[in-house]
Amino acid sequence: MSQSSLNQQLKTLHMTAIADNYQALAQEATTANWPYETYLARLFSLETERRTRNRRIRRIKEARFPLPKELADFDFAAIPRLNKQQVVALAEGSYLATSDPIILVGNPGLGKTHVATGLGLAACRQGHRVRFYTVTQLVNELTYAQQEHQLPRLLEKLARHQLLILDEFGYVPFSPLGAQLLFQCCSALTEKVSLIITTNLPFGEWVSVLGDERLTTGLLDRLTFRSHILEFVGDSYRFRQRQLEMA
Ligand code: ADP
Ligand code: MG
Repeated sequence: MSQSSLNQQLKTLHMTAIADNYQALAQEATTANWPYETYLARLFSLETERRTRNRRIRRIKEARFPLPKELADFDFAAIPRLNKQQVVALAEGSYLATSDPIILVGNPGLGKTHVATGLGLAACRQGHRVRFYTVTQLVNELTYAQQEHQLPRLLEKLARHQLLILDEFGYVPFSPLGAQLLFQCCSALTEKVSLIITTNLPFGEWVSVLGDERLTTGLLDRLTFRSHILEFVGDSYRFRQRQLEMA
C-alpha cells in the first residue's frame, strides 16, 4: 500500500496519533527488532492515550464550569469540620456509578462552589459527562423549554449526563411553575444522574424558596435518599484571608 493511501485511510478513521507516529515508530521497530505485534500495540496505545486526553479536555469544556477550581487548591485546614477524606473519596467517583446525590450546605464564602467544581473536574477526567448550572439558570432553561413545548427533549438531554451540578439553591425563590419544573426535572433524573447541589439553606428552610410544602417534601425525599451531605461551617475564606493580610 502506498504511503499516501495509508495516510488517507488513517485520516478517514480519525487515527491522528497513529498517522503522526507510525513512521518514526517503524524505524524504532526495525532498529530494535520488535515483533509486528509490539509495533502495532505501541501505535494503538498512542492513539488511545491521545483520545483519552482529548475526551477529558472536551468533557471539561462541555461542563461549563464558571471557574476552574481544583480540589488540589482547596485548603482543607481552613475548614476543619469538613471531612477531607470524605471529599477525596468522593472525587474517586464511585457515587457516579450509583447516581447518588451530594449536597453541600453552609454559609456563603466557605468553598461550596469550589469543592463542587473540583468534584466535577475529577468526574470529567474520569470521562464522565458533567454540566454545571446555577439553579436559577437551570430553572430558566426548564421554563423556556416548557413554553416552547421542548421540555421532554431538554430532560432527555440532561439525562445523558452522569453528573449535574446545581449551584446556589436558596438564593433566589422560584415561581410556582419554576419550583414545579425543578421538582419534575430532579424526579426524572433520580437514580440516573448524580446531582451535586450547593445551598446556603438548611433542609428545614427549603420550603421558603420552593413555596410548597408537599413539593419540598417530595424533592427532599428524592435528594436525600443515598445522599452524601457535606457541611460547611466556619468563617468566609476570603474574609479570613483579608483578616490575615491586615494583621
Ligand atoms: P461558596 O460557594 O461557599 O459561597 P466559594 O466556593 O465561591 O464559596 O468560595 C469563595 C472563594 O474563596 C473562591 O474563590 C474559593 O476558591 C475560595 N475559597 C473558599 N474556601 C477555600 C478554601 N478552603 N481553600 C481555598 N480557597 C477557598
Ligand atoms: Mg457558591
